[in-house]
Amino acid sequence: MDFDTPLAEAWIRAIATAVEQQQTLLTDLDSAIGDGDHGSNLRRGFAAALTALDDLRPDGPGAVLTKTGTTLISKVGGASGPLYGKAFRAIGAALPGPADPATLAEALAAGLDAIRALGKADPGDKTIVDAWTPAVAALRTAAATGADLPEATAAAAEAAEQGARATTPLRARKGRASYLGDRSTGHQDPGATSTALLFRTLAQTTAP
Ligand code: ADP
Ligand code: MG
Repeated sequence: MDFDTPLAEAWIRAIATAVEQQQTLLTDLDSAIGDGDHGSNLRRGFAAALTALDDLRPDGPGAVLTKTGTTLISKVGGASGPLYGKAFRAIGAALPGPADPATLAEALAAGLDAIRALGKADPGDKTIVDAWTPAVAALRTAAATGADLPEATAAAAEAAEQGARATTPLRARKGRASYLGDRSTGHQDPGATSTALLFRTLAQTTAP
């Protein structure tokens, strides 16, 4: 099984459902160390992405993800809109056609590069980078050892969730939470949490 256009569409639909269902969690996390809008930002952004996809006749999985990225950039005002938007545009650009796990891993690595180019966050800064980085590493390792798409994306989801949990003791060094200094410790980062949701929905979408 390759990551193809129907899977890309199913992934975005699954993300929209997941952020709708987890809006309160994301908002509560962002209320603790930010301004409480992360859940509503993502709900609005992915709802708009679904509407945009209704009018799209995609010629490959990348077209679905590029459209999603463009929509997030235009509809989400918070830090996460441009960061996720650029990431999806980079992933889309790297997926002109159906992709095997290794190609998908490189596309998601391009997404991470885009996030880091824009946000300048390093691992350990308590941001979405802390979930995205181990997820890409796990996906690459799984692909290199011959895992199929469901296995490789499941490994990525597990790694992203671990990465998100590991943000709790960290002190934020980027974004709004960094204004809190030491008071940002003891809370899981909202963006790392939504990144874990993105990778979990990817695994669920590709599961047999
Ligand atoms: P805002 O902070 O503008 O209210 P959101 O609440 O939607 O935007 O998103 C907050 C999340 O964005 C944070 O939890 C963090 O994970 C992520 N974030 C903020 N700044 C950066 C950055 N420079 N690089 C990577 N991720 C970041
Ligand atoms: Mg916020």
